[in-house]
Amino acid sequence: MNLKEKYRVFKEWQQRPYQVAPLTQEEHTCATCGTSYQGNYCPRCGQSSRIGRYSMKTAFLLFLDVWGLGNRGMFRSIRDLLLRPGYMIRDYLGGMQMAYFPPFKMFFLLATLSILVNGGLNIKGDNQFETAVQTYERSFDMSIRTVPADENTSVETGKDKADIELQDRINNNVRSFIRFVFDHQTIIELVWLLVLSLPLYVLFRNCPAIPDLYYTEFFVAMIYITNLMNIVSTVFSFFCVDLSINGLLTPLLSIIALKQLCGYSYLRTILGLIASFIIISIAVMIIMVLVGVVIGIVMAI
Ligand SMILES: [Zn+2]
Repeated sequence: MNLKEKYRVFKEWQQRPYQVAPLTQEEHTCATCGTSYQGNYCPRCGQSSRIGRYSMKTAFLLFLDVWGLGNRGMFRSIRDLLLRPGYMIRDYLGGMQMAYFPPFKMFFLLATLSILVNGGLNIKGDNQFETAVQTYERSFDMSIRTVPADENTSVETGKDKADIELQDRINNNVRSFIRFVFDHQTIIELVWLLVLSLPLYVLFRNCPAIPDLYYTEFFVAMIYITNLMNIVSTVFSFFCVDLSINGLLTPLLSIIALKQLCGYSYLRTILGLIASFIIISIAVMIIMVLVGVVIGIVMAI
């Protein structure tokens, strides 16, 4: 099989909805209530028919279950999010809810995991918050050093001192801003998703793959796409890979996911995304101007 053929098979697999294995004719007797039945679960008490001896696998699944991870195909959801994100989201929105891990639960679990990983649970034991602050400060130091400081008159020194004080104040502000973003990244991400999904929804709601898409459905899709980006960036943080690669890869993944979800061409998807960012920028500028005008009016009174 050549590469082209393999790619065609992969493409077919991507678009095929998740298939539940057919039911066997095998009779089970429930170990808890003694009911005889066919199928995967006891119709009387709900116990799984696969429960047998206490193996490593059962122990591991029960261990995961403590955090609500043991069921609902978490591993399948992660694999599908990475390999066929848009089609998987379409499956989920189409009603296949038992097949995939619930989106909001995944979002908050990933947020917790990313805080742990960024805080030092990675191969280098780095606190990535401190690294971000240090990177910022280093870039700031360099910009100071590029300013030539050869003349040392008393006037210049006074000016320098004021400059340094100002720079210190900016430094502290940026530092507390970075800390704020790190401490509240989950909330900031949710608010940002709500803002971004508004213009995106307007531009994608009549898409060919899901005509008549609800805003809430689109928002759930956005949560899944964010989960995809968070999975990748958490793995990158864990292996301490350069963040700029992550900055390139995650937008690319979100474009692929959105394209698969809505069924538009890549060009139309990318243009839609760019248009949404422009709309948000214009809205932010209008709000800033309005706030400025209101402050001006209040000052004048
Ligand atoms: Zn039973």
